[in-house]
Amino acid sequence: MYCLHLLRCPVCHTAMEREGTILRCAHSHTFDIAKEGYVNLLRKKLAGDTKEMVQARRSFLERGSYQPLADTLNTLVSTYLHEQTSPINVLDAGCGEGYYLGRVQQSLPQQSCLLGLDVAKDAVRMAAKRYPSSSFVVANLKEQLVLADECIHVLLNIFAPRNPVEFARVMVPSGRLIVVIPGVEHMAQLRSTLPLLQIEENKQQHVVEQFAPYFTLLDVVPVSYELDLRGEEVQQLVMMTPNYWHLSDEARMAMNAIQALRTQIAFLCLVFEKKK
Ligand SMILES: [Zn+2]
Repeated sequence: MYCLHLLRCPVCHTAMEREGTILRCAHSHTFDIAKEGYVNLLRKKLAGDTKEMVQARRSFLERGSYQPLADTLNTLVSTYLHEQTSPINVLDAGCGEGYYLGRVQQSLPQQSCLLGLDVAKDAVRMAAKRYPSSSFVVANLKEQLVLADECIHVLLNIFAPRNPVEFARVMVPSGRLIVVIPGVEHMAQLRSTLPLLQIEENKQQHVVEQFAPYFTLLDVVPVSYELDLRGEEVQQLVMMTPNYWHLSDEARMAMNAIQALRTQIAFLCLVFEKKK
C-alpha cells in the first residue's frame, strides 16, 4: 500500500496506519491487507461486476482493443503534468481490473502515487496482482470516499459511477478530472444486431451539468475508430458491460452465433478542472 497516507477509515474517516498485515485507524477500526496487497474498505458487501465480467474485460482490453482510449488518457495526463513540478497522486474511481491505471503509470514520474478504487473485489484482486506498484482498494464510490481532502491531482472516471461532491472534496484546487463516457455511435453495428442497452440520450450534457457546481469543463476529446471483432471478442465486449445483467437467452444465442463483426467504437473524454 504505497498510497496509505491518502486513505481514510471508511467508518470514522481518520487516517490509518499499517501494522503488519492490517490497517488501523485512530479509533482502532481495522482492515486486513490481502496477500495480493489490496485492502477491502467496504462497510457492507455490495454486488459489483462478477468474476466472469472482469475476466471478459481483461481479455478484451489486453488485446489492445481500447488502446486508442488509453493513449488519449495518457496524453491528457501528460498535458496536465507539464503544469506540475512535483510527483502527483492519481485516482482511478471505478478502476476495474486496472488496465487504464496500468497504462497511465507509464507516463507518470516515479514517486507518483496511483490509486484505484472499485466496488468489485474480483476486479481489485486482479488489478493488485497485475500492477503491484499501484494501490488498489475495494470501496463504494457512491458514498463518502475513503480518501483525505484535497489530495488527488488527476481523477479518472471511466464508465463508472460518478460522485461529483466527493470527487470535488478529494481533489486539489485546479486538479484534473477526466470522465469517459460512450459516444452516440459506440458499438453501433453491434447495437443494431443485438438488443443491447441503449446509450442515455444527452449523456454528455447530463454529465457536464452534474459536475458544473464544482468543475469547469475544459475540453471534450472524442476517440473514435472501427474495430474488427471475432466471435469471442464480440462476446467479451458484451459481457464486460452492464449488458451482462440484461441479456435474454434469445439475445445470448444470437450473440454466440456471430462469427465476426466490424463495429464503431466511440468515446468522449470530458476534461474538467476543479474550481478553486
Ligand atoms: Zn475508524
